[in-house]
Amino acid sequence: MTLLPEPAQPDPSVTDIDLALLREAISIADDAVSHGNHPFGALLTDGSGAVVLRAENSVTTDRDVTAHAETNLVRLATRQYSFADLATCTLYTSCEPCAMCSGAIFWAGIGRVVYALDEVGLLDITTAEGDSPMLMLPCRSVFAAGARPVDVAGPALLDEARRPHLGFWG
Ligand SMILES: [Zn+2]
Repeated sequence: MTLLPEPAQPDPSVTDIDLALLREAISIADDAVSHGNHPFGALLTDGSGAVVLRAENSVTTDRDVTAHAETNLVRLATRQYSFADLATCTLYTSCEPCAMCSGAIFWAGIGRVVYALDEVGLLDITTAEGDSPMLMLPCRSVFAAGARPVDVAGPALLDEARRPHLGFWG
């Protein structure tokens, strides 16, 4: 008998303010698809909670396999903000950051991450649709290996976060 992983349960620590910002990240994921890329979006809020940067996945149009939404956002953020400033920032993303993006977030010094769809939830969709090998390593595992804490909240809005992916990976 094969035991399938339990579907993720929403993280109760995600606040109503977080949910509104995750909905915006999911909307950015829709924009990425309309621009010819994969359905992922991310944004950054500063210490006051204001949105200061947004980024889409651009893997296809940039012909850059590292151009995930969160890594694109980190590139923008570290050009504009100090390490100390980024410690007060929160990165919101439509899907749990992969190991590469989690590493980039760690190196940027961003203090908090909130994600919508978990990586197992994404894998369920990509597997069902027959595409996309994934690098399965929870972001909390990557951050736990770092010498500086990164607060993580998620998953949340699972049904809304699945929507941009359904039918995309087939
Ligand atoms: Zn990534």
